[in-house]
Amino acid sequence: MSQILVTGIVTLDIIHFLSQYPEEDSEQRANQQLFETGGNASNSSYILKQLGHEPKLAATLADDTAADFIRQQLQQRQIDYFDEWRMPNSHSPTSCISINQQNASRTISHYRCLAELSFAQFDCVDLNKFDWLHFEGRNIQEQQFMLQKAANTSVPVSLEAEKDRPGIDDLFQYADVLFFSKTFARQRGFYQAEDCLDHFSRQYTDKLLICAWGEQGAWAWQGQQVFHSPAYPPPQLIDTRAAGDTFNAACINGLLKQQSTQKILQDACKLAGHKCGLTGLNLNLC
Ligand code: ADP
Repeated sequence: MSQILVTGIVTLDIIHFLSQYPEEDSEQRANQQLFETGGNASNSSYILKQLGHEPKLAATLADDTAADFIRQQLQQRQIDYFDEWRMPNSHSPTSCISINQQNASRTISHYRCLAELSFAQFDCVDLNKFDWLHFEGRNIQEQQFMLQKAANTSVPVSLEAEKDRPGIDDLFQYADVLFFSKTFARQRGFYQAEDCLDHFSRQYTDKLLICAWGEQGAWAWQGQQVFHSPAYPPPQLIDTRAAGDTFNAACINGLLKQQSTQKILQDACKLAGHKCGLTGLNLNLC
């Protein structure tokens, strides 16, 4: 069991399961509705918890009723967080998610009006208490200082580049492990995971680089070697939400257990595929 600091955001997710993706300016009744705590860092924390670790979520919180729900759910999930980072007179970031039940695709619109975590807040955290430090790459200017602080410890650091953001490349140097999402890779003009990894491996020769690619599985680059795992589709695709967050958490779990890169990729694809066959993030692992 490892102590893992997961830095990023936590949101309220309002999820509608729909028989088909709606047309613009149309009305449709949803088959199911869920209110859940979401956000990449929060999702990965919950997966890490279910894999037997002790995650601590480093994210700002609002002080509205949605934040009360989020705090309650984090407590139910036994995820520790920084309650002192509640921002007065603020609104919880909210994602409205439509899941098309024909193919389990998820379409997200996100509203955010909450201050991001500052370095001043983060600087109060004793990083040496943790076995792993994971960052969701955002809020670049402040996060650069956080990552500098993290890189000055002997604790391993991973960073997720989920979306291209101005200046995000400045963060890469500080991480030992870089997760590039398919969305990020495409935004950079790469149409295959291998091309994205090939590009970044020229600059970051000493890092583990990982790129997940939906139904095609995932690739990794390490020490001049390329690794690949296929995806493991579930019997029925139900909910692809947080597949990437599950994948990243499973990789961190494998890295903490010092498994081989091939096994890490394979197990992460298996767990992410398993998640795609379930509603929500409760993996029912026994
Ligand atoms: P994101 O949620 O960030 O868009 P991806 O779609 O790349 O992430 O998915 C991450 C991982 O989840 C993939 O590497 C794959 O192992 C698994 N996965 C995603 N979609 C599917 C799917 N339709 N069938 C099986 N596995 C999937």
